[in-house]
Amino acid sequence: MFCQVIIDIVHENVASPFTYRIPEGMQLQPGQRVSVPFGRLQKEGIVLSLTEQCELEANRIRNVIEPLEEYAAIPPELMNLAEEMAREAHCPLAETLRLMLPAQMRGGRVHVKTERTACLNVTREEALSAAEREKRSPKRAALLRFLADENIHTVKEITSLVKDPNEALKKLAADGMIRLESEEMLRTPGNVFEQPEDPGFTLTPGQEEALEEILPCLNGKGGRFLLHGVTGSGKTEVFMAAVRSALNYGRSAIILVPEIALTPQMVSWFRSRFGPVAAVIHSRLSPGERFDEWRRIRRGDARVVIGARSAVFSPARDLGLIVVDEEHESTYLNDHHPQYDAREVARKRCDRENATLVLASATPSILSFARARRGDYMLLEMPRRVMNRPLPEVEIIDMREELENGNRTVLSGALRKALKDCSARGEQAMLLMNRRGYNSFVSCRTCGYVVKCPNCDISMTYHMASTDGLLRCHYCGQMMKPPAICPECGGKYIRYFGAGTQKVEEEVHKLLPGVTTVRMDYDTTGGKDGHGRILEEFRSGRARVLIGTQMIAKGLDFPKVTLVGVVAADMTLNLPDYRSRERTFQLLTQVAGRAGRGERPGRVIIQTYKPEDPVIGYAAGQDYRSFFEDEFRRRRHGLYPPFTLLVRFLTESVSEDAALAAANRIEQGTRKMLEAHPEWQKKLLLISNDAPSVKVLRGKNRRHVLMKLLVSREADEMIAAMNELSREEYENAEVWFEVNPTTMM
Ligand code: ADP
Ligand code: ZN
Repeated sequence: MFCQVIIDIVHENVASPFTYRIPEGMQLQPGQRVSVPFGRLQKEGIVLSLTEQCELEANRIRNVIEPLEEYAAIPPELMNLAEEMAREAHCPLAETLRLMLPAQMRGGRVHVKTERTACLNVTREEALSAAEREKRSPKRAALLRFLADENIHTVKEITSLVKDPNEALKKLAADGMIRLESEEMLRTPGNVFEQPEDPGFTLTPGQEEALEEILPCLNGKGGRFLLHGVTGSGKTEVFMAAVRSALNYGRSAIILVPEIALTPQMVSWFRSRFGPVAAVIHSRLSPGERFDEWRRIRRGDARVVIGARSAVFSPARDLGLIVVDEEHESTYLNDHHPQYDAREVARKRCDRENATLVLASATPSILSFARARRGDYMLLEMPRRVMNRPLPEVEIIDMREELENGNRTVLSGALRKALKDCSARGEQAMLLMNRRGYNSFVSCRTCGYVVKCPNCDISMTYHMASTDGLLRCHYCGQMMKPPAICPECGGKYIRYFGAGTQKVEEEVHKLLPGVTTVRMDYDTTGGKDGHGRILEEFRSGRARVLIGTQMIAKGLDFPKVTLVGVVAADMTLNLPDYRSRERTFQLLTQVAGRAGRGERPGRVIIQTYKPEDPVIGYAAGQDYRSFFEDEFRRRRHGLYPPFTLLVRFLTESVSEDAALAAANRIEQGTRKMLEAHPEWQKKLLLISNDAPSVKVLRGKNRRHVLMKLLVSREADEMIAAMNELSREEYENAEVWFEVNPTTMM
């Protein structure tokens, strides 16, 4: 017997499988990891297929050294998925296969943790009476008594009670009194959040109707749904009921969330309702814990998996359901190595495994809603909040008027008053400020010089600290002292402009002295469980105001929040990206949806310099449909995705010339390609070669070549050819290739 093995190296020259002989007596199956000789080295690989014949000369075929596990680490469904993804992303199979395994499993950095155990081989009574008779060795007598206590059985526990027990244990085992074994131990982490009771709701009519459509699909029929429910309509409850039903059919479920640290509530609900059959895949798990969760899923012990995008590759047994919560979030996109969209992967898996796909959001992505309208997903709508709670009332404040009235602070008169009232009533508030730090830039009043990062073409942000403040680059982390005099003109008047979360927090302290606030942004959420601590402060009511970046808009459910303030709504609107309107609408609608989720109604104040912008209006009215129609028309008119594919080559080099030369070569290469394929020319709508909005990043000069392709079969062929182009060697430059890139920066 022979096998084809994909060597775990990502390199052009080892992309195809290599053939090895399976030695006599060794059993292998596809998906199993093996150790094989490779050149003069020993490498890990994955068995792709088995064959009885082999074309190569017998003496040129080498033997598999050994299997790395007894079982196939990658089940057949995921092997197929990896092959399909590699074909579509035009990347080596080794790259997509890696997605299917916990990273630390490669190179043998994690193993099953085993512990030596001892257990009685006789009844408890027999053991206790043997202990009585055991006159010669008090140690053996003590061991028998301990082992008769059912809670003690690992050799480690025994050693903490009886010194040097090994000899005595061996003797007892030889006498047939006990058995010495080794047992697989799980490093599965405990639940750090308190366990809520099952609330036992009566489902709302909206929830009932949605479930009526979903449940019949879970028994192997499969289906695809887009659950569009307004904020607070109780979407989580729909998932839980669907998961329960899938489990009852003997199938498993995967729940994807944008970021696990931001969904402690959902995780604890799932843990408390599904207990040990739930596995949580968390980026802060230790390698061992992560591996053990993966093992529990692979063995079929864990049947509900909750995690961020990579959890879509979990080896769940008999998959019945995949839920993608907050499906509009860009965290579902993996931008490199390989590029994938977890929503698309989920869809593929569901199709292959006859499972049901449920995408859910209050603000679905343009792409998903367009598909639902075409009938590709069944649209389920929940237009009402639970208990018929009203959607919050939204007010738009024109910040230009505030300026005219002499208010130069970040909080408008209306927001100040609302914060005071909210605080006086003992309720909670959330303030969204989508930029961290204190001031957003520092500039010389005399000559206009703006302090920029030495490594990036980005202005530095001022951060307050307990001692002195520092300027920081939000792209590369570079820090420096703010200049006392202008390095350009020697001017003495250095001014600090713009605001970030720190400044907003300071304003709130001035306005509401003595009121505890918490700030949630990239700076405060480092360390183990940074998010959890902050959310717990707020959930418990100890902190009254939560100030944060877009992190606070991701599906949080705090019933005591009655006021939401958006400090600067236009910030994301002005980004140079065709999705900036979609992102702004989602962000505003989602954060507004955090208000009034409990018994008391909510109020939202949106501050903007562009109150006339329709996007602000749609978000204020929580009017998804009008936003969608408007944006869809705009995309069609401007030939943006989903009507076209955007292709981007990004070149990076320490040398400006090298980055430019690489971009020019790519442009010429593409034009040559078009000359050779006249039928492709009609499909290319635009080609541009210039500097992106950030011209220098982390010390590297950048250029990008952008193309717009009409969605078509030819476009797929063109992308394959362009991908080849991106994998060529470029002198002194790196080239990144992306289709519909996550950022245009
Ligand atoms: P969404 O994700 O749609 O914004 P959630 O699923 O977070 O909303 O639910 C909002 C709140 O309503 C939660 O606190 C949840 O416990 C509660 N809830 C859900 N379903 C019901 C119901 N049928 N009756 C009463 N409360 C419910
Ligand atoms: Zn920088």
